[in-house]
Amino acid sequence: MGWSVGYDENWKRDIGYGVPGGCDHPGCTTEINRGLAYVCGEEPYGGEKGCGLFFCTHHLWISEVQLCERCTDGSEPFTPSPDVNRWISRKLTDSSWARWRNENPHQVRLLMEQQTAEPKFQIGKAN
Ligand SMILES: [Zn+2]
Ligand SMILES: [Zn+2]
Repeated sequence: MGWSVGYDENWKRDIGYGVPGGCDHPGCTTEINRGLAYVCGEEPYGGEKGCGLFFCTHHLWISEVQLCERCTDGSEPFTPSPDVNRWISRKLTDSSWARWRNENPHQVRLLMEQQTAEPKFQIGKAN
């Protein structure tokens, strides 16, 4: 399976390196993508050790595998950050999502409401 765009049933959100997203560390505004380079646990959905959320390089700790602060401590995962507007608008307008839009009118409506919220993440602050 190419891991460009997939879906995480556990966290109910789109994942993969083709999906832009904000770092899931509270208060962090770095934009990353939801690929394996940034996943807590180093495997899709977090594997055995991680929570499967996504963090910038400042918020991942490398021991045996890369983990977020909470998983390093063995405590409950962080609350995931919302999808970025750039990704939401792609889902709402891109032709590759046309079929999904037809099949999920309720989700489309929710995304349209979400899109009107203030943008939270900035691009290019990672390094
Ligand atoms: Zn974690
Ligand atoms: Zn971060």
